[in-house]
Amino acid sequence: MPKKKESADISSSVEIISTESTTPNQEAISNLPSIESEEEPTLIIEEKESNPKGFESFGFSQELIKTLQDKGYEEPTPIQEASIPELLLGRDLVGQAQTGTGKTAAFALPIIERINHSAGSPPQVLVLTPTRELAIQVADAFRSYSVGHPGFKVLSIYGGADFRSQTNTLRRGVAVVVGTPGRVMDHLRQGTLNKSQINCLVLDEADEMLRMGFIDDVEWILEQLPNERQMVLFSATMPTEIRRISKQYLSSPAEITIKPNNKKTTLIKQSYITVQSSYKIDTLKRVLETTSEEGVIIFTRTKAITISVAEKLENCGYKVAVLNGDVPQNQREKTIERLRQGHINILVATDVAARGLDVERIGLVINFDIPFDREVYIHRIGRTGRAGRHGQAILFASPRERSFVGSLERAVGQPIERMEIPNNESINRNRILKLQKNLIEASSRGREHEEETTILKELIKNAEQELKVDASEIALAAINLALGPNPLMIQEDETWIKNSNQTRNRNDRRDFKGRSRRRNDLEVNASEKNMERFRVEVGYKDHVKPGNLVGAIANETGLRGRMIGRIQIFEDHSLVDLPKDMPNDIFNNLKRVKVMNRELQINRVI
Ligand code: AMP
Repeated sequence: MPKKKESADISSSVEIISTESTTPNQEAISNLPSIESEEEPTLIIEEKESNPKGFESFGFSQELIKTLQDKGYEEPTPIQEASIPELLLGRDLVGQAQTGTGKTAAFALPIIERINHSAGSPPQVLVLTPTRELAIQVADAFRSYSVGHPGFKVLSIYGGADFRSQTNTLRRGVAVVVGTPGRVMDHLRQGTLNKSQINCLVLDEADEMLRMGFIDDVEWILEQLPNERQMVLFSATMPTEIRRISKQYLSSPAEITIKPNNKKTTLIKQSYITVQSSYKIDTLKRVLETTSEEGVIIFTRTKAITISVAEKLENCGYKVAVLNGDVPQNQREKTIERLRQGHINILVATDVAARGLDVERIGLVINFDIPFDREVYIHRIGRTGRAGRHGQAILFASPRERSFVGSLERAVGQPIERMEIPNNESINRNRILKLQKNLIEASSRGREHEEETTILKELIKNAEQELKVDASEIALAAINLALGPNPLMIQEDETWIKNSNQTRNRNDRRDFKGRSRRRNDLEVNASEKNMERFRVEVGYKDHVKPGNLVGAIANETGLRGRMIGRIQIFEDHSLVDLPKDMPNDIFNNLKRVKVMNRELQINRVI
């Protein structure tokens, strides 16, 4: 994939400011004075129609188009729309994008299209990621996008996994290698990773690599690779050091930043729930049980998910409809009308299908899948709070996606508050309240035909006399009849909710406890509050570098690199400062983690 000559002629900065002409999913949003009470997080949206482009416009092969269709991708995300044409031209690229924006496909799709697919050839693309989880995830994404390209092979390489089996796979030939810096260095040093044909390098989550102390390693790797190569750098933020790298190693890169639009305000209360993917449906059911809103719209990422979510809710007795790209336009209009009239209460939709949707009855928007970017989020939550009414928006975020919530908060300029998954107690309380409300409403309403009321009153009187009971017992029997055989009070297992909260707490600690700590602040004394000193059994003699320790510990504990304190390396051991109160299971796992092929055997320094 040699770099094309014309790439230098293209204007040097493609700045994507989210306007309707460049990105499909957003609307113009402008600053307006706030009109609501202070305690409510608020947002107002002004709409404009936009004009979506499909993946066909990139000139992708039929195989790839089919794969994307099968995956339910209806249209490119903003970062994909901006990056893919540049990358297909062979241009270098700097993209500012977070997890959840579709950035992996933004670089993977053009790579799959441009690569030489002949089996057995040495690697042509190297992707560097800060963590092994991301390496695995990126390699999986490559695999899923390349199902229509049978010769395509990808391998993830990271520390802690068997070196020899990685070497064997490399020897058999893979087109793309995705790896963490430490392990990639090991393979380069040992000559087991053939670098001669590498003509494209991707640095994913570059700022995270910087934070984790991998930048020296990354630069070392860059210097080993052939000069004639395409280079792509994705980063959520652009610290000076990352800018320097991009200036030094990238040539006339396209620079892509998806800028947030301005915003205006209305009454939308925003919250998020941290939940593992496997519990999203249970969480959704619990949220719906406790909401008092009538009209609800649930946003999912793909068409397939709209259908499976709608089916599950239908099985629980909800009146649901699906709105996705497969639903023909006239049918969509009918569905929206049914929602407006109250014949259905819940709509499960993709972003494309729900564009511009305006139904006053929608009181709650649920982001079942986290949106691709801030504009999509703003569009989604703008489906509620219509016509000056009050609205609520709830976002489901996995522990990994939790950090994206902060960026959404900055985009909307409002807090997105943490919300607990409703437990049995709150669901039961809600069920009683709902029943009470329905009873009061029904008793004040009476029946439409007066004569029916007379008949029913007669019936109660007869039953009282016959059974020799008073009216309250007859009322109880009537409620029993109306409720049916299902128990009124939920008694489901809720231990997963507690576990989910624990995961969330651990994750929050990750995000917030060390938020002001930078890598160069590492001269922190272990006696400092909240830190503890540990000894690990790898040292100079094993050629260990701080980055190797940070990487391994961060991978195993889920700590962010910046939360790992001072590291001192001695001949046969090292000292590392870590936050206090490390849970025992993580501590025990860390003992067995291998760095430079030696177990850490971590111990507290007393
Ligand atoms: P990423 O930001 O690369 O971590 O991607 C976030 C998620 O979005 C992944 O689950 C992808 O499968 C999904 N995704 C990426 N691009 C699209 C698209 N154009 N349409 C629908 N889903 C997508």
